[in-house]
Amino acid sequence: MRILIISDIHANFTALQAVLGASRSVDQIWCLGDVVGYGPDPNQCIECLREIPNLICLLGNHDAAVLGRIPLATFNKDARVSIQWTRTVLTPASQAWLATLPESWVNGSAFLAHGSPRNPIWEYLLDPNTAALCFEFFDNPFCFVGHTHLPIAFLYNGLDHPTRWLIPTPGQEFHPNNRVIINPGSVGQPRDRDPRAAFGIFNDTTNTWLPQRIEYDIMSVQQRIFDANLPQRHAVRLLEGW
Ligand code: ZN
Repeated sequence: MRILIISDIHANFTALQAVLGASRSVDQIWCLGDVVGYGPDPNQCIECLREIPNLICLLGNHDAAVLGRIPLATFNKDARVSIQWTRTVLTPASQAWLATLPESWVNGSAFLAHGSPRNPIWEYLLDPNTAALCFEFFDNPFCFVGHTHLPIAFLYNGLDHPTRWLIPTPGQEFHPNNRVIINPGSVGQPRDRDPRAAFGIFNDTTNTWLPQRIEYDIMSVQQRIFDANLPQRHAVRLLEGW
């Protein structure tokens, strides 16, 4: 089965459309959370995801904050402004859908979480030492996480050896020969200085990961951010990928 894995859409409907348009032949779609926050299109993104058959979608920290489940004080000011704005525009149907999302999911050979298997909503997996501690919190060969907006793979090498990391090359199939935690990067707000939307295809038959990037119309999203009076920083960063 070929599974499109997306994460951190952050209410960027133009980026989401580009990714879905480039991935029409997949068998299933898994989304690792943060559907909303930062961006101008929360309802459009949710309405689009709700139409996808057999979608698995997790709850991210921004989604949880919009629902009032985690305190706003844990976010920086610009993120808080967007979360509060999202609350004012979200339709009851969108809010009800967000409220159904689970924090983690196990599906065959893969464990899914927004942040980490140890702390699904909050923990950022940014370095191999932190990632190494997380392998005991799931049993599957693969774990997929989002949250950092940085595409990366952490390769388990046993308890007595350091966990390695690498950045899989977009367009090149990656076949890990050990247990691995993979972050596909962010659809709607990449932070690795590559502004193209990030995603990937997991093949759970061949156990391979195909990372991908795609350009989208960033300026149209920036315009909607300005029109909604959301913080300008959220628009500027899209063009530079940070
Ligand atoms: Zn995020």
